[in-house]
Amino acid sequence: MKNYEASPDLLRGRVILVTGASDGIGRVAATTFAAHGATVILQGRTLAKLEAVYDAIEAAGHPQPAIVTQELSTATVADFQQLADTIEREFGRLDGVLHNAGVLGDITPMEMYDPDTWDFVMRVNLRAPYVMTQALLPLLKQSPDASIVFTTSSVGRRGRAFWGAYAVSKAGIENLSQLLADELRNTSNIRVNCLNPGATRTRMRATAYPGEDPMTVPAPETIMPLYLYLMGPDSRGVSGESLDAQERPPTA
Ligand code: NDP
Repeated sequence: MKNYEASPDLLRGRVILVTGASDGIGRVAATTFAAHGATVILQGRTLAKLEAVYDAIEAAGHPQPAIVTQELSTATVADFQQLADTIEREFGRLDGVLHNAGVLGDITPMEMYDPDTWDFVMRVNLRAPYVMTQALLPLLKQSPDASIVFTTSSVGRRGRAFWGAYAVSKAGIENLSQLLADELRNTSNIRVNCLNPGATRTRMRATAYPGEDPMTVPAPETIMPLYLYLMGPDSRGVSGESLDAQERPPTA
């Protein structure tokens, strides 16, 4: 899948929401989707950073994006409904959502994990994707070919010492993705999948592995083929899967 080659206009005409579009993997995914023809809604919490991504997309001559600022730890059901209403009013459609925003929380033994940090991580990494998806489903159901992509991690598939709420939130995301895929399989044109970026050179990775030379870790640009595959029509019929962006093709 690493070798998937997307056609230049793969996402032309589609409207795609990317959470955490201000930095790291989300920033690169948003600009990559725009470069393949999508109108991208840049969701994040830091306006200045989102504006920089907006400007880069516009300067490159890609479809004009939009910005939505939301702090995901405190966003309410009404806030997410307002997001859905705004998208419907401004664009009249939604064809894809990349739930990418995430926080690491503490890397510390369970015995010492701070409950407030736990709640914060769960709200950003698990509750927000759930409530946001709930609000956006009516719009996604109107799309002829919609894709929801949740972002997981290897520690969400198998718990690992010290990863605390982050690991538990990602395990929850895996399950949420599976049950939603199951519910929507025969009743809609929406596919739902989980994507594990694998070790990727971002601020989060540097925080989790402070002793690592960032240059030994792949840049976000190198993992985009699977993001494009899942967001575009070539993944039609693929749902309920948990895929790896850095998985080696069988022939490699
Ligand atoms: P970064 O820390 O580089 O970027 C995180 C993004 O999420 C930023 O845009 C950030 O906004 C946004 N964000 C964080 N907290 C909030 C919040 N409370 N409300 C709104 N937006 C928020 O992370 P990565 O790019 O590395 O990670 C992207 C996804 O990939 C995450 O879900 C992560 O768990 C997952 N992942 C990453 C791996 C890696 O090696 N990098 C490996 C496995 C999974 P702002 O810029 O304003 O802080």
